[in-house]
Amino acid sequence: MRFHKSESAFFVFICVIFAAGLLVLHAYNLLHTNPAALFRADELEQAAYLARLLFGSGVLVATALFFGLFFIYPLIRTQVREEGKLRAMTETLSARSETLEQAALTDALTGMQNRRYFDDALKEYIEEFRRIDKPVGLMILDLDHFKEVNDSYGHDVGDEVLRAVARCLRDMTRYHDVVARLGGEEFAVVAPNMSEDMLVKFAERIRRAVAGMAVLSGNMRLKVTTSVGLAVWDKRESAEEFYRRADRLLYQAKRMGRNRVCA
Ligand code: GH3
Ligand code: MG
Ligand code: MG
Repeated sequence: MRFHKSESAFFVFICVIFAAGLLVLHAYNLLHTNPAALFRADELEQAAYLARLLFGSGVLVATALFFGLFFIYPLIRTQVREEGKLRAMTETLSARSETLEQAALTDALTGMQNRRYFDDALKEYIEEFRRIDKPVGLMILDLDHFKEVNDSYGHDVGDEVLRAVARCLRDMTRYHDVVARLGGEEFAVVAPNMSEDMLVKFAERIRRAVAGMAVLSGNMRLKVTTSVGLAVWDKRESAEEFYRRADRLLYQAKRMGRNRVCA
């Protein structure tokens, strides 16, 4: 059994009282058994008084020991046990709320960050990069004619394609890029600290990687393409304005025939 700090302190306290009790008992014995050896005849009455005092102290010490061991200690023990239970409960609760928070920011199908996470992250990146005066790029990707994949091969195959695209995006991006599924067959990448030139090449590499991917379904090798809207933050616009601009570029890519990057 492991003892709590308050229990250990209590045991030390009891030991001290016990030692004091032994001393009192010893002194009482000396006084009580042969007071004539210690005191002159005219002081014997005082010795008897001292013996009574010591006897009284001994009774008090014994009572303190009895109460300490049989009343105070059980109370401390109960309190320690309850505190332990409470701590275990709060630990479970905080672990559960962490899991919930994680779940609230994660897309269940692909395991990547979700729209809510993306919205917050984009705002935070913009705040941060406004201070350090560095560029931030935003790509919005939307799979082309994805409805046909679902219609031709079924929703499960469609889901598998979405998971494959998610893996591809994770593989293609750096650890500080934010990669999220915004919903449906729409994804976003926030890529900080890259020049416009680098961003265009990066977006092209991602587009080619998605187009080069083959998702196996039975003995079929499924191909998908994606259109990409790419914007570089102009250092004035808000996160919403920045997002809307990238989204307009995405629709421009769709209008221009899909499977392309519009920057
Ligand atoms: P476009 O090239 O214009 O983007 O055409 P599209 O077919 O990709 O676009 P549309 O918006 O018409 O269709 C999107 C489809 O994505 C429709 C919907 O069934 C499918 N979809 C959305 N979410 C999911 C999902 O979680 N799983 C699967 N399998 N399909 C999804
Ligand atoms: Mg769409
Ligand atoms: Mg689409």
